[in-house]
Amino acid sequence: MSPANAKLNAFPVFMRVEGEAVAIVGGGAEALAKARLIAQSSAALRVIAPVIEVELAAFITEAGASHVAAAYDASHLEGTVMVFAASGDEATDRRVARDARRLGVPVNAVDRPELCDFFTPALVNRAPVAIAIGTEGAGPVLAQMLRGRIDQMLSPSLGSLAALAASLRGAVEKLLPRGNARRRFWNSFFQGGPAHAIEAGELSRAHDTAVDLLLSSVPASGHIALVGAGPGAEDLLTLRAHRLLLEADVIVHDALVPEAVVAMGRRDAERLPVGKRKGCHTKSQAEINALLVELGREGKRVVRLKSGDPLVFGRAGEEMAALRDAGIAYEVVPGVTAAFAAAADFELPLTLRGVSSSMVFTTGHDLKGNSLPDWAKLAISGATVAVYMGRSVAAEVAGRLIDAGLSPDTAVAVVENASLGNRRRFHGTLADLPSLEVRADLSGPVMTIIGDAVAGANFERSEPLAAHRHEGAAAAAEGVQP
Ligand code: SAH
Repeated sequence: MSPANAKLNAFPVFMRVEGEAVAIVGGGAEALAKARLIAQSSAALRVIAPVIEVELAAFITEAGASHVAAAYDASHLEGTVMVFAASGDEATDRRVARDARRLGVPVNAVDRPELCDFFTPALVNRAPVAIAIGTEGAGPVLAQMLRGRIDQMLSPSLGSLAALAASLRGAVEKLLPRGNARRRFWNSFFQGGPAHAIEAGELSRAHDTAVDLLLSSVPASGHIALVGAGPGAEDLLTLRAHRLLLEADVIVHDALVPEAVVAMGRRDAERLPVGKRKGCHTKSQAEINALLVELGREGKRVVRLKSGDPLVFGRAGEEMAALRDAGIAYEVVPGVTAAFAAAADFELPLTLRGVSSSMVFTTGHDLKGNSLPDWAKLAISGATVAVYMGRSVAAEVAGRLIDAGLSPDTAVAVVENASLGNRRRFHGTLADLPSLEVRADLSGPVMTIIGDAVAGANFERSEPLAAHRHEGAAAAAEGVQP
């Protein structure tokens, strides 16, 4: 086995030779071998030898190469890009190598590696595709063996397929966006219809199939922005969200996004409310995904407005996957998530030096099973926990955390309608938390923050949760019944 860090002493490159002169000094079998190799390229071959063998002479004619019938002279190398010293005579080869170096032309001397600037590979030629095998002199036999194997692996029509690909490249780059769409197209091109047609020798059908494939891969020019609308206050919208709203043809928004934010879009933009508020799902997630894809295909500029940050409990993952699959361009614009707005309303340090150095975004809806989810363990080890959609599971969350060992006295802050004028703040302990579930007066979205860092908040403008503790305790008892 070769060491993992083995370095190549000769590095393979592909050199441009189209129309360039390549000189071979020599008139025998070695010269013929190099001539055959170079004749696989579109270089202009120049063979320099006073006399040449019959076979080489025939090859020169056949390949349209030129023959300089004279004793070697340095002037014969002028204007070449590559030189082969293949005279079979050591003194001549040395002269050729020295002259080539002086002219700055790379040289290869047959069977004299010490004189070589470069080595020639064993070549699998499916022009424009080339596979060059080098062994740095470890053995031409090994190189030929590998060449044979690789040659068998590759379809003889690979070159035609690659040539067709090259002819379509410009069009593909113009019509398909970089990334997935292009990758998908080339995958189908090299493995699908066009490849099969080439394999069957039907070049013009391959071309037509490829053009059809290309046209059907062109994505709609629509664009979807998944935009975070923030927690509710219009002035917590980002400038980017605002600009996109003004550019949008269609605004697709959740129920939690206030009318005032939606209204920041163009007056003539189409507005499509899609739910979802607990209990009244206007559209299923699958329907929303399909709607976004459809609007994108129609070429619309869409703002998909989601409350808070679109990537936090917003099912943006599913929407992005649907758009990616459909090849529709999209972008994501972050927003102020509810936990941050609630913390700001409470002047609550989410991380607090020496008290809490991590935070958890969770829903509490994953506490139903038998085992504690990892976030509960984090809470016990001191993380600040922000519970989204936690009102209806408040008793469950509190009960399970206390059972797991979190102190019932752990501080809790609750904000309804964070960031909005009608916000309400409540403070208390984990033991008070179940009361949330039974409060009919809380009709807005509610954010619950639990942890020792909460003790650092400002409680001057908040009401105690404990006022409702008694009812809450009853609810907690109900919550744990099967
Ligand atoms: N993507 C949103 C969260 C959507 S889940 C975000 O990043 O904020 C919906 C939950 O978010 C609500 O049940 C509530 O817990 C919380 N929420 C959203 N807006 C809120 C607000 N203004 N005040 C308090 N909680 C809010």
